[in-house]
Amino acid sequence: MLAAVTRSPGVMVVGEVPEPEPPGPRDVIVRPEAVGICGSDLHFYTGDTGALSGARSSFPRVQGHEFSAIIEQLGRDCPGGMRAGDRVAVWPLRGCGRCYPCHSGRANACVSLELVGIHRDGGLQQLLSIPASHVFGVGDLGPEPAAFAEPMSIAAHALARAGLPDGQQIVILGAGPIGLATALAATAAGARVMATDPLPARRDLALKVGAEKVAWGGDGELLDAVQAWTHGPGAPTVIDTTGDPGALAQATRLVCSAGRVVVVGMSAAAAPLRSGVFPEKEIDVLGSSCATAADFRSAVALVQAHRETIAALFTHRFPLTHAREAIACVANPAAGAVKVLVTVGGPEL
Ligand SMILES: [Zn+2]
Ligand SMILES: [Zn+2]
Repeated sequence: MLAAVTRSPGVMVVGEVPEPEPPGPRDVIVRPEAVGICGSDLHFYTGDTGALSGARSSFPRVQGHEFSAIIEQLGRDCPGGMRAGDRVAVWPLRGCGRCYPCHSGRANACVSLELVGIHRDGGLQQLLSIPASHVFGVGDLGPEPAAFAEPMSIAAHALARAGLPDGQQIVILGAGPIGLATALAATAAGARVMATDPLPARRDLALKVGAEKVAWGGDGELLDAVQAWTHGPGAPTVIDTTGDPGALAQATRLVCSAGRVVVVGMSAAAAPLRSGVFPEKEIDVLGSSCATAADFRSAVALVQAHRETIAALFTHRFPLTHAREAIACVANPAAGAVKVLVTVGGPEL
């Protein structure tokens, strides 16, 4: 079978690899269909692992952590209700089961977190083995929206962290795939959203997925826009999805006193931050890492309910044989990519 193997930073080779062994008792063999490529894939590909969950990486690696797949074969002890031929979305996260976060029901923040497609081989291949507990049926969803369940689960978790009360005004920094997923999920949950992004096309998409307002500009302009929109000193909730090291400082300026900042975007870089703002405004700052199984389940439901809207985010598609070009497309700002997909296809490839 074919796989796109990242052999070392910057080197991806598509070629023949052995098929997986028959599935273990609680595993399934799946055939990936559509694989989303995101900023994390680019970070891994370029060797910038400081910007990834769990800063470990090992090569060679088959990347791809956002994917839909068809179940090909089930282990003998897989739960009933699962059938060969079912389309699923894969929850790519594995906790160690032993550390404090795992014991606290937060395996998404496990100290030895492993992600399929980053720490283990992922979706950019024609077959792979996955624990049955990590595949979620998607009903009649098509392969492309089903591949968006993973980015949507990141949004669902960020909103779970934010604990949004109904009708609250929330500012989302960044209107890339995660910012857009967060805007859609927040709107669906009854929040009112303002999204910020330097790119006009992304601001347009933010409006399309439900944002009430979009803005961009220097710090002063953004603060003015937020204050005008909230008729007050800032937004009760700010979620950063940018991965821009300066975004946390910006969020502390845009959030109102007693408000909450949720940091989803990742960066390895340091940026200055005035610590006095935390006690002054009594701000809660919460990190949000990956997603729990419950977040993933609610993400599948969100994608099912909003599949037409989500389809507008898929800007580029490449076959598995051109997976390297998919990564290059994410890396190239001039490509105007939002969500880039790799179509894996069956044995006929
Ligand atoms: Zn991703
Ligand atoms: Zn753990």
